[in-house]
Amino acid sequence: MSTGKKWQCTVCGLTQEGQAPPKTCPKCGVDSSKFIGLRK
Ligand SMILES: [Zn+2]
Repeated sequence: MSTGKKWQCTVCGLTQEGQAPPKTCPKCGVDSSKFIGLRK
């Protein structure tokens, strides 16, 4: 049971799961404003 959402970095395309986007992208280092929420 997953209540998390998926977030995608619009800069590098990395996807992360969680209730909120990461503060910074672990791959390219941009801040959370560059992440968009994806619907499952
Ligand atoms: Zn990124």
